[in-house]
Amino acid sequence: MKEIILLKDGEIVLKGLNHRSFEDVLKKNIKNSLSGLGRFEITSAQSTIYVKPLSDDIDLDEVCGRIARVFGIVSFSRAAVCDEKTLDSVLQTAPVYLEKELKSAATFKVEAKRSDKKFPYKSPDICRELGGEILSKYPHLKVDVHNPDITVYVEIRDFGAYIHADAVKGAGGIPVGTGGKAAILISGGIDSPVAAYMMAKRGIKLTAIHFASPPYTSRRAEEKVVRLLKKVSRYAGPMTMYTVPFTKIQEKIKNECPEELFTIIMRRLMMEISEKIALQNDCSALITGESLGQVASQTIGALACTNEAADMVVFRPLIGMDKQEIIDISYKIDTYDISIEPYEDCCTVFTPKHPRTRPVLKYVKEAQEKAEFEPFVEEALNNLKTTFISADD
Ligand code: ATP
Ligand code: MG
Repeated sequence: MKEIILLKDGEIVLKGLNHRSFEDVLKKNIKNSLSGLGRFEITSAQSTIYVKPLSDDIDLDEVCGRIARVFGIVSFSRAAVCDEKTLDSVLQTAPVYLEKELKSAATFKVEAKRSDKKFPYKSPDICRELGGEILSKYPHLKVDVHNPDITVYVEIRDFGAYIHADAVKGAGGIPVGTGGKAAILISGGIDSPVAAYMMAKRGIKLTAIHFASPPYTSRRAEEKVVRLLKKVSRYAGPMTMYTVPFTKIQEKIKNECPEELFTIIMRRLMMEISEKIALQNDCSALITGESLGQVASQTIGALACTNEAADMVVFRPLIGMDKQEIIDISYKIDTYDISIEPYEDCCTVFTPKHPRTRPVLKYVKEAQEKAEFEPFVEEALNNLKTTFISADD
C-alpha cells in the first residue's frame, strides 16, 4: 500500500504575502532533513505539504522521526493513498490500513473532509458508508462520536484520497532560515544547547562560537561541544562552529586583572570577540544560555556589564526559566546526557573565590583597559578553527 505524509504548517500561515517564500524555505528544510533516506517529492497545495516517497524501500518511521524535528510544522499524518479516488477504494483501503489500530480499539468514529467538491459523495455520506464498512469488518467496535479510541480520517483532495489516524504533533515554531542569522555562544553545559534550540525554533539560522583554553580545557571538551551541536542541528540544520583559542586571554586576565572581576572581564571579552565573528558571518544577533540569578555572573548587574561589551542585540531565551525547565528541554532534544559529562569548560578555569555579583561597570572597564587586550583579541580572531556541523542520525 502506498503511503504519503501530510503536513500542516503553522504560524507561517499567518504571514500573508510572505507565505509562499516561508513555505519554500520549509520545503527545502524538510528535503534537507530527509537527506540519505531516499528520494521524495515534496509539494504543497491547499495549506498542506505533501511528502511523497518515490520508492517502496524507504523507512517511513525514520522519515516521520525527522519530520517531527523540522520547525514550522504544527502536525503531520502518515497516510495511506487510496488506489483510486473513489468511494470503493476508500472503503477498501481504510479497514486494511488501520487494521491494527481498529482491532485494539473499542470505539471509533470517521471524519471525512472533502476539499475536492467534484467528488460525488458528501462528507456525511462518506462517514456513514465507511463507518458501516468498518463495523461489518470489526464487529467488536462501537461508534462513539464524542470520545472515540480512534478516529479514522478520510481526506478527499485534488490529487487523491487519503486515510489516516490522528495527526502527530510537529515541532512547532517557524522554519529555520526565515528569521535571520545569529551566533550562539556554546559551552559544553546544559543551558547553551537549549538556548540554541529555542532560537532556531523562532526561525533563526545558527552559527556557533566556542571558546577553548587548552591545556586547561581538553580536546574532549571541544569534541563534546561538537556532539552537542550535532544534536541541536537535528532541529536547527547544519551550521559552522568557530573555536576561539582563549588560553592567552584567560592567562592575561588571571595575571593582570583583579581576581573578583575575572569572570566578568572574561565574559565581556567573549562577547566582544563573538560580536566580531558574528559580523563576519552575516549574523545580526548573539545568543547565550544565561538565566537570571543562576550564578554570580548572571545577576542583573553582571549581565548589564557583560551586555555593554557588544553593540549587537543579545538573545537570552532562558533568562526567565528555572533550571528544571531548562533540563526538561535538554531531555527532549537529547542533549542532557552529553551536557553532564564532566569536562572542564573555560568558564570554570581560574574562577574567583569571591566573584563580584554587583560589579561596577566603570571599574570593570578600567581594569580591562589597563590590561590592553586588543592585540590578544586580534590574535585569537586570526586563529579561529572552523568545524562544519551536521546532524548524524
Ligand atoms: P551553560 O550550561 O550553557 O554552560 P552556564 O549556566 O554554565 O551555561 P556560564 O558558564 O556562566 O553559565 O555561561 C553562560 C553562557 O556563556 C553560556 O550559556 C554560553 O552561552 C556562554 N559560554 C560559557 N562558556 C562558553 C564557552 N566556553 N564558549 C562559548 N560560550 C560560552
Ligand atoms: Mg557553563
